[in-house]
Amino acid sequence: MSEAVASTVVRVAVDAPQHSGLNAPLDYASEQALASGTLVRVPLGKRELLGVVWPGEALGEPAVALRPVAAVFAGLRPLGADWCRLLDFAAGYYQRSVGELASAVLPPQLRELSPDQLAARLRKLEKKKAGAAASTPVKPELAPEQAEAVARIQAQLAAAAPKPQLLFGVTGSGKTEVYLRAAEAALAAGRQVLVLVPEINLTPQLEARFTERFAALLPQPLAIVSLHSALTPAQRLQNWLAAHLGQARLVLGTRLAVFASLPDLGLIVVDEEHDPSYKQQDGARYSARDLAVWRAHDLKVPVVLGSATPSLESWQHAESGRYERLTLAARIGGGALPRVKLFDMKALPATAGVTTALTAPLLAELKARLERGEQSLVFLNRRGYAPVLHCGECQWKSDCPHCSAWRVFHKRDRTLRCHHCGFTERVPSACPNCGNHDIAPIGRGTERLEEQLAEALPGARVLRIDADSTRRKGELEAQLQAVHDGEVDILVGTQMITKGHDFRRIRFVAAVNPDGALFSSDFRAPERLFALLMQAGGRAGRDAAGESPSEMWVQTWHRDHALYQALARHDYVRFAKTQLDERRSASLPPFSHLALLRAEARTAEAAKAFLDAAAGLLQDDGVLIYPPVPHAVARVADVERMQMLVEAGQRGRLQAFLRAWVPALIALKRERPEFRAVLRWAVDVDPLAI
Ligand code: ADP
Ligand code: ZN
Ligand code: ZN
Repeated sequence: MSEAVASTVVRVAVDAPQHSGLNAPLDYASEQALASGTLVRVPLGKRELLGVVWPGEALGEPAVALRPVAAVFAGLRPLGADWCRLLDFAAGYYQRSVGELASAVLPPQLRELSPDQLAARLRKLEKKKAGAAASTPVKPELAPEQAEAVARIQAQLAAAAPKPQLLFGVTGSGKTEVYLRAAEAALAAGRQVLVLVPEINLTPQLEARFTERFAALLPQPLAIVSLHSALTPAQRLQNWLAAHLGQARLVLGTRLAVFASLPDLGLIVVDEEHDPSYKQQDGARYSARDLAVWRAHDLKVPVVLGSATPSLESWQHAESGRYERLTLAARIGGGALPRVKLFDMKALPATAGVTTALTAPLLAELKARLERGEQSLVFLNRRGYAPVLHCGECQWKSDCPHCSAWRVFHKRDRTLRCHHCGFTERVPSACPNCGNHDIAPIGRGTERLEEQLAEALPGARVLRIDADSTRRKGELEAQLQAVHDGEVDILVGTQMITKGHDFRRIRFVAAVNPDGALFSSDFRAPERLFALLMQAGGRAGRDAAGESPSEMWVQTWHRDHALYQALARHDYVRFAKTQLDERRSASLPPFSHLALLRAEARTAEAAKAFLDAAAGLLQDDGVLIYPPVPHAVARVADVERMQMLVEAGQRGRLQAFLRAWVPALIALKRERPEFRAVLRWAVDVDPLAI
């Protein structure tokens, strides 16, 4: 028997299914001792999986009783102890197994390769040629506030136990230049730098800026790499390996990059730190922003969180002194922030508008800008032609048969599409219910807005950018280029175009229908809306050269709302204060800590029964469990979704509760036959959308 030669026992983190209860690393027999962090392949049930040799004591079973490790990636240096600590922390904090998390965050191609195949790959990496020698970049002279921020980051780079820093800088204040200088200092000290961005579509732009700046300093191949889910599996593995081997000195990436293996990591930057995209929404529901702060603390390296509208969590940390605040209050080049006009929809005569969204005064403003040769942006956070199709005879509406949601009318390809489950049909020529031919769209999405603008302003070059217009590779880049080149007069789009882009020509931004979020049941909705509108407004007037003042136009039925009043003054500080006061008096985060237990089943009753049973499993007088409620979109793809909020005054208390509760939930689901009807359940720690 081959097992006979096995002489030692190793612990291996491997992705065992949650219901198996095998959540801790598992013991395997090995012929030789293996260093922690070594990648291996191990048998589990009938499969063979990628695993990581994990630090810590084996359970003590003799090697002969264990299954042997199937293969060892001996040619690859082991993952560092710090990487294993990060995974241990994240798995514990977000209540997942470390094996599951490791398997989710390592490049997918690693799971498929044998050690020999990987050794092929590694040789290819060594043979990569350097690019052409780059010239020394031109660095702009820093504005005084930038210089101050850079100096303070440099002080933290030299500190024994650096404090996290919040770079609070208005849109266009030159935050990226601060990141570049901070990165330069860390790179010069021989350290690796990790820069996180919220959206994949912001990486090419940022990568170009970093490459331009550092190509001369870092001439080696793969010295600057990106990590995100839109890379091909081969690129992702290559870039991950480059980071792991220390060849990549600067890594730019989306949330998954927070788990990159970086042996010399010396600085982490989280751009647009408030962005909800940093929270993973399935599997291990981690916050890359929060893990970045943890990782920096663990490694004693600086972390810089940048935003014009910081998350209230980070802002509160800056207020309490836990984070150091660095402020950039002025725009570079003296460009003023756009004047905000709160356009009162109530004051509009009933006949005045072309439609309720494209009001006559708005059209007149767009026309005037057009005649002056200026670019405008019209922002509407809803894609498609119209959110619903409606029959005036029988009141039929285009609901989705599988979800508690409407199907959106997409005119270009004449489809009704559910944005939740994807269910798509051709638009019916008559009402499917009564046969009436007169079915009409209600409301408006970006596609309809684009059409109406083109009709109302003949000759204007209107371009729409949203998830529908940018499906194919390269489309977004081409469209953005057209905007930068001045080939577009009016840009229409969703939040996709409000973030990050350094548009130089836009002088007018209109938000035509932002009120919806004011009355959401989600306590974070105002925070998100404020950030979104500040970001959108931030696209205007980035170049001071224009003759007319830049302006943001907000069409609202609630002009006196405190949120809009703060927006009109660009007063994030005031907005944050009122929001934090409300959160404090309502005991909401950051003044309390939340977890959400979600359950999905074919019937709402089954999901609710599971949550009710879960609530009865464990009592803790420091932890409050709320009654189960349906998810905001209760049914998706014929599955009913219920959720239950768990709240504690102290983070540690919540963590202790979850540590005891989650194993009990696993047992509850496994052992009680009546809960077989529950298809899925998950705990979301620090949930963002409630
Ligand atoms: P933010 O990220 O704060 O919105 P950016 O970093 O995009 O702002 O900077 C806005 C613009 O100002 C960019 O075009 C950038 O190249 C330019 N810029 C930044 N710092 C300086 C500086 N010190 N001197 C001249 N231009 C600068
Ligand atoms: Zn009908
Ligand atoms: Zn659906």
